[in-house]
Amino acid sequence: MSRDTEEQRADPRVERVLLAEPRGFCAGVEMAIKALTWMVRAFDEPVYCYHEIVHNKLVVERFEALGVVFVDDIATVPEGAPVMLSAHGSAPEVVQRAQEVGGYTVDAVCPLVTKVHHEVKVRARKGFHIVYVGHAGHEEAEGTIAVAPEIIHRVERPDEVRALPDLGDNVAILAQTTLSHRDWAGVVEAAADRWPDLWSPGRSDLCFATTNRQGALLDLVHRCDAVVVIGSTNSSNTRALVQLATEAGCQRVAWINRAEELPSDLTGIVGVTAGASAPEEVVDAVIRALDPIAGVEPVRHTDEDEYFPPPRNLRDLLYAIRGFAAVGFSGQAPSGHLDDRTIDASDALTALDRLRPVK
Ligand code: SF4
Repeated sequence: MSRDTEEQRADPRVERVLLAEPRGFCAGVEMAIKALTWMVRAFDEPVYCYHEIVHNKLVVERFEALGVVFVDDIATVPEGAPVMLSAHGSAPEVVQRAQEVGGYTVDAVCPLVTKVHHEVKVRARKGFHIVYVGHAGHEEAEGTIAVAPEIIHRVERPDEVRALPDLGDNVAILAQTTLSHRDWAGVVEAAADRWPDLWSPGRSDLCFATTNRQGALLDLVHRCDAVVVIGSTNSSNTRALVQLATEAGCQRVAWINRAEELPSDLTGIVGVTAGASAPEEVVDAVIRALDPIAGVEPVRHTDEDEYFPPPRNLRDLLYAIRGFAAVGFSGQAPSGHLDDRTIDASDALTALDRLRPVK
């Protein structure tokens, strides 16, 4: 695995970068960032956002510089202000309160989180208790638990499943979308041991983006002297990547938010990946800083072409203000067709920086 040769010791530089594909922005994050971008362009400052739009410090700082105010309490949003709810999903009472208070409310929840909320409602109606595998304090977990708090029992480990009280025979298991497969597998096994008729969704709640990024990392980690994982510390799917690389035996795992945090002593073969909310421009900066002697080798795990359109009421708003051209993202004449798919989130943010210079 490791190239530990005289040659390497003589030239302590990075020999090659193995670049995970896919990495970085997932369809849900793309949708949420673009949605907030459209909001910033369409409304006067300040636009309010309940919770970080996605769990990435750089993305949040960029929006803050554009006048977005992030709040953790929906009650602090002034009456009549435009409000966006984050991609992680919000508690039903938060959604309701935002709709009552906000002048214009857009819920940028990822459709895959909405699916879990829906599963909770259906199981609750059918009289089930739910074992929910999720991280304490994570916004997605809190939003999901709030859908039916009286019947949800949050766990993270198999021993916590065994310690749960008697829940009767009707028990279902659901999960936070961004867990690692290992976290999920151990808990589901313990729950199936305890409740032989355990109900679980046909496909696990772990989302494609989480699964694909983990698969791509596993494809390259065994060849690496070190792995760099880009993403913020409050990003659950990024944490899962770090954990996976460590569990796979990688001797050096560097978890960084920006290129300036890169350790200066990396050598040999370095794997690079990024969590689902980490911008590609940071990946580019990391590769420039690593400056690999033999270049970059992409390691493709799978293609990812999922696309989530903007929330419906935001689409309606954009139509109403005559499409993208009128809000400044395109030089083309307004048309009836909102072609959001062809614009990626990084480009939308950059376009916004140009139209409304960052303060
Ligand atoms: S990581 Fe998965 S669940 Fe989370 S926003 Fe992305 S696609 Fe949606």
